[in-house]
Amino acid sequence: LEWLNPVKGFGVTFHTMFKKVPTIEYPEVKAPTMPRFHGRHQLNRWPDGLEKCIGCELCAWACPADAIYVEGGDNTEEDRYSPGERYGRVYQINYLRCILCGLCIEACPTRALTMTNEYELADDSRESLIFTKEQLLAPLYEGMEQPPHAMRLGETEEDYYRLGRDDVTVPAAHSGEQDSEA
Ligand code: SF4
Ligand code: SF4
Repeated sequence: LEWLNPVKGFGVTFHTMFKKVPTIEYPEVKAPTMPRFHGRHQLNRWPDGLEKCIGCELCAWACPADAIYVEGGDNTEEDRYSPGERYGRVYQINYLRCILCGLCIEACPTRALTMTNEYELADDSRESLIFTKEQLLAPLYEGMEQPPHAMRLGETEEDYYRLGRDDVTVPAAHSGEQDSEA
């Protein structure tokens, strides 16, 4: 029955021809990630545009790859970047080192640091893969103002943290977070 072999061979060919193709034409077509995919980080803002980062360095200490560099600075009434005493004056993430494990976002006490679904983190220059604070900061949505500026949402830091409570509704577009929790 050797004469049947070509028929079997073409049978496989025709069967495969009509199967759904799993590959996509990247980069023109991008497959959506899972909702909690760990991609590029984002430094979030409060609904008035002030930064959530308080420059505490806990994320840097939690990082197993030593990929985060933070220098805190003092807020003043004339030069305010976050509601509390301190803010992240310098903030860098080195994507040559980062393994996207998410330990840093778990360590962050203010949910200033979260991760987006963005996964295109390749470049032909090593310097460009060290992301600065300006690159990591969330965009300014409607109603937000570029810091430095005064506290618009309350008199004290506690007023801001109360915004995170369940009984206070913050419009989704202003929650200042695009994240995938670990
Ligand atoms: Fe470090 Fe992991 Fe955060 Fe990357 S995701 S900066 S490796 S803690
Ligand atoms: Fe602290 Fe969070 Fe800012 Fe890191 S991102 S310095 S953990 S507040």
